[in-house]
Amino acid sequence: LRINYDSPAGLKAFLDSRGLGMRKKFGQNFLINPNARSRLLDALELEAGDTVWEVGPGLGAMTSGLLERGAKVTAFEIDPAFCQVLREEFGDKSEFLLAEGDVLKTWQLVRGGDCLLGNLPYNIAAVLLADFIEKKKFFKRMVVTVQREVAQRIMAKPGSSDYSSFSVLCASAYKLSPLMVLKGASFYPPPKIDSQGVRFDLLDEAERNSYPNLFQPLTRALFSSRRKTIRNNLINFINSVMLKGKVAGAAPGGETAQEALAGCGISGDRRAETLEVAEFAALAQALEKIID
Ligand code: SAM
Repeated sequence: LRINYDSPAGLKAFLDSRGLGMRKKFGQNFLINPNARSRLLDALELEAGDTVWEVGPGLGAMTSGLLERGAKVTAFEIDPAFCQVLREEFGDKSEFLLAEGDVLKTWQLVRGGDCLLGNLPYNIAAVLLADFIEKKKFFKRMVVTVQREVAQRIMAKPGSSDYSSFSVLCASAYKLSPLMVLKGASFYPPPKIDSQGVRFDLLDEAERNSYPNLFQPLTRALFSSRRKTIRNNLINFINSVMLKGKVAGAAPGGETAQEALAGCGISGDRRAETLEVAEFAALAQALEKIID
C-alpha cells in the first residue's frame, strides 16, 4: 500500500495495513495539508545540494518533498516502526540518512550549517531549539512548526508577557519570521490546539559573536523572578552564582550590581521583560568588565 500523506483515511489505512498506531507520547500528528507542506518547504529556500536535518520525519511526508527538491537529508526519528517505513521508502537513496533514536540524545551528530526542518513534537520543541542555540549549533535557516503558543514565545518582543529568556536567546542568533498558522484540521489526528510555522534566518557572524559569555546565564537570571527588578535579580545572580563560595562574609553583590548597571546606563528599576536583546548583552559586558 502506498502512503497517501494527504488524507486521514489514507494514512489510517496505511497504518492499519502495517498494524501500526499513533503514539501520543511522541507528539505524533501528521501534517496532511499538502499546501502547508509545500509552503514550509518553500520557506527553506533550498539551494542545490543543501543538507537538511529533519527532526521527526514520521512517515516521510516532508522528507519526500525535500528529496524531490534535491536536498541531502539526515532525518532523526524516535519511533522504530516509523523508522522501518522510512528505510523502505527512502533507504535506497544515497541522499537520505536516518538517525534512529531520541533526537535530544543524537543531535550531536548534527554538524550545523545548512538547514533544519521539523514539524516538532510538542514536548521537545523548545528544549531542542534552546539546546541548539546555547551550544552554538547554528543553521543558515530553520523552518519549524510548533504549538502556536511556543511560536509566540519564540517571536515575542520586549513588553509582551510572552517575552522570556527563550525569546532573547532565539533573537540573539536569528531573525525570526512568522509563517502560517495551522488549525488542528491540518493534522492527523487533529490536535486541539493551533500550530504555527516559524522561520529562523541566521544573523551575521559578527552580530552573533558580539555576545559575551555571561549573556545567556545573566539573561536567564534576570527573568528568574519576572516581577522583581533587574537590580534584585542581578544581585541574586552575582551572590548566588558568580560569587558562590568565593568570598567570605557579606556578599558584595549589591555594589557590583550597581557598578555594572551604571557601566551600561541601564536603570536597575526596570524589569527583564522591558529589556531589548542588546541591553542584556550590554549589561553582561559591563559585568564581565568588573569581574575580570
Ligand atoms: N514530519 C511528520 C509530519 O509533518 O507529518 C511528523 C511530525 S510529528 C508532529 C512528530 C514526529 O517526531 C513523530 O514522527 C515522532 O515520532 C517524532 N518524535 C517525537 N519525539 C522525538 C524525539 N525525541 N526524537 C526524534 N523524533 C521524535
